[in-house]
Amino acid sequence: MLEKITVGEKNLANYRPMVLTEDQIIDEIMALGAELRGIRLCHINSTPYGGGVAELLYSCIPLLNDAGITADWRIISGNEPFFKVTKNFHNALQGAEYWLSAEEKEAYIKCNSENARHLDSNYDIIIVNDPQPAALRHFSNSQQTKWIWRCHIDTSNPNQDVWQFLKPYVEEYDGAVFTLEQYVPANLRIPWVEAIVPAIDPTSPKNRGLPVRQCVDFLPDMGIDANRPLAVQVSRFDPWKDPFGVIEAYRMAKKEIQGLQLALIGSLASDDPEGTQLLEKVEAVAEDDPDLFVFYNLSDIEINVFQRASNIIIQKSLREGFGLTVSEALWKSTPVVGGKVGGIPRQMGGELAELLVGSVEECTERIVTLLQNRALARELGAKGKERVQREFLITRLVRDELRLIKKAMLE
Ligand code: UDP
Repeated sequence: MLEKITVGEKNLANYRPMVLTEDQIIDEIMALGAELRGIRLCHINSTPYGGGVAELLYSCIPLLNDAGITADWRIISGNEPFFKVTKNFHNALQGAEYWLSAEEKEAYIKCNSENARHLDSNYDIIIVNDPQPAALRHFSNSQQTKWIWRCHIDTSNPNQDVWQFLKPYVEEYDGAVFTLEQYVPANLRIPWVEAIVPAIDPTSPKNRGLPVRQCVDFLPDMGIDANRPLAVQVSRFDPWKDPFGVIEAYRMAKKEIQGLQLALIGSLASDDPEGTQLLEKVEAVAEDDPDLFVFYNLSDIEINVFQRASNIIIQKSLREGFGLTVSEALWKSTPVVGGKVGGIPRQMGGELAELLVGSVEECTERIVTLLQNRALARELGAKGKERVQREFLITRLVRDELRLIKKAMLE
């Protein structure tokens, strides 16, 4: 059997005070859950921690269970060569140049076929997340199960070598879900495609409210001067998150914002072998700068504190499926300077669009503007919180997923 991830319990009723008062979303979730009671769902991905997918599943799975369906989360197992290949797939599907070798195809197929042998065939519906386990459906013989491929990355302009290899596997699914409509690759032949944006869990250790005192005391404990301005980027150590671009922008901004500090906070996911190498490079660059901090594998509460205690959050991605870190920061009313790519503009509409950047120079300029104008920063932070409350809380995602399950089961 594929390893099952334990997620604990969550109670939908606790979310009522957080969603908009006029919103009937919890009632709709309960009604859909009652309709679908008894359905057995399994989400499959490749890592229990690090990155956005794990973050989503930790909250969605217990909430789906609370709504009345039986939801499990399982992960595939793979060795380092497999995860090297799939990390290359991940980059290539977001548009990086890449030549896929016969050995790499073989490593991918071998791992997926082995994992498929350990699949429980009693599920009514299986949602496979991202490219790593995409060929599971091909190698599985569970005929009664509905299969959905859930793609979290920007596949609008995929490397053709990799996409042509994966496409036939994806086309065996009953349906596919992408984060944005524009990510659906051209010529994908599949019965149906949906676009669903992710969301954040306001009750999780990452996002729940914290005592102000805890935030104030925390920064000095981490070696940071709480009396000087601080900018933070929270991201896996990944070239698409552009850590060196962030450092450059910080250095340029520091010419105008005296005493500016930058913290780059990252995690090392088990399915991301590239991360360690990039972390080492970032640490080498940071070595001579006492105001440039690099932290990794912090706890969720520590990330929460950083997202609250920082004056601004930067998410200067060059490609980004969605960018949960943006909604996480905005929920805490912290303004975000974000890359004008992928799912970031979707989260930063209205006045927040002013803070979208396409270059190091623009990033520098927005950092300086926000740090020189605290009233504006506060106003944009508050606007951000409203947007998240309206569109990007986990209850909306659970509702969308239940609608999706209903649709798939009725087909
Ligand atoms: N994250 C974390 N610790 C870190 C770096 C990231 O917990 O050191 C979390 C972050 O808070 C967010 C998720 O990992 O919840 C990253 O999701 P996002 O959609 O921003 O990017 P992805 O990693 O999926 O590309």
